Amino acid sequence: MITFKNITKQYTKGTHSVDALKDIDLTIHQGEIFGIIGASGAGKSTLLRLINGLERPTAGSVAVGNLALDGLSKQELRHLRLDIGMIFQHFQLIQSRTVAENIAFALKAAGVKKTKFAARINELIDLVGLIGHADSYPSQLSGGQKQRVGIARALANDPRVLLCDEATSALDPVTTQQILSLLKDLNKRLGLTIVLITHEIEVVKQICDRVAVMDAGRIVETGPTFSLFSEPRHPVSRRYVDMALQIELPDEILKRVPGKVIRLQFTGDKTGESTLSSAIKQFDINVSILHGKVDYIQDQAFGVLIVSLTGTALKVDAAIEWLDQQLHALEVIDYVA
Ligand code: ADP
Repeated sequence: MITFKNITKQYTKGTHSVDALKDIDLTIHQGEIFGIIGASGAGKSTLLRLINGLERPTAGSVAVGNLALDGLSKQELRHLRLDIGMIFQHFQLIQSRTVAENIAFALKAAGVKKTKFAARINELIDLVGLIGHADSYPSQLSGGQKQRVGIARALANDPRVLLCDEATSALDPVTTQQILSLLKDLNKRLGLTIVLITHEIEVVKQICDRVAVMDAGRIVETGPTFSLFSEPRHPVSRRYVDMALQIELPDEILKRVPGKVIRLQFTGDKTGESTLSSAIKQFDINVSILHGKVDYIQDQAFGVLIVSLTGTALKVDAAIEWLDQQLHALEVIDYVA
């Protein structure tokens, strides 16, 4: 539904230029919740803003549905933006207007008849769980309630796509959960396609169907969220997974443990423990568990084990080769002085 083909984006300031996006090819499907994760400066905002034409690519093309964005007139762009809602980290509400008036602003911009405002505003307030707050001002609302107003305003014109720019980054963990549940619910009930950018892996883990990992202007890995967690291929993705699982092995420990240290990833249908015990029997090696964690994504289990293997070098190497074939996601971790 949203396609990026061969996108590059350069920002130029005087003689200095920044490659914000390089070689981006990506398709986001209708009705999915698609996450884009990366560190600050990775290019996430730029990519998101290409979808509603707030930025234009230096080269390549972007399309939403059947509509190619290159060369759209200002009027056509305005029309497109009615079909694409957006919410922001700091909500961007009009402080001097009530909740109802903030929503009315979006209806007015879309040319909806004034006589239809009241009914639609009530409907939206109900949809986002803000009944009783129509006449409140933003300063009287909590962060989560402000974001609900942001969502109501973004949905005022029944868009097909909702763009979320770090929408929960200013919220506490409990409120973040509530807003993510609301987004998931809207995705299901309205068939809304949601594209969200975040630097928080927890957000991806909780609601995204698929995810793209960005690093320095490039997409380094794309796939279903479960695959990213159960078999991350790129080192940047692996770091995010470790963050989510709170896996950390201090260098001091790595320096001290004897044998070869390996990291095993496993999913629900193949547990790390049973594969390891087979390896111990088959290859006559010893295994010490240094770290382990199991977690769940959409009710599917996955986990990481970090273990050290000791025994004769030949047997340890043979065991590692066998484990690699069994689990397809094994890494030998060497201490680097
Ligand atoms: P992210 O959202 O992942 O933090 P951005 O898309 O905001 O990343 O930025 C990507 C790169 O482009 C960064 O190096 C940033 O400094 C640069 N950049 C973003 N917007 C502009 C701009 N308007 N002018 C110049 N450089 C920009």
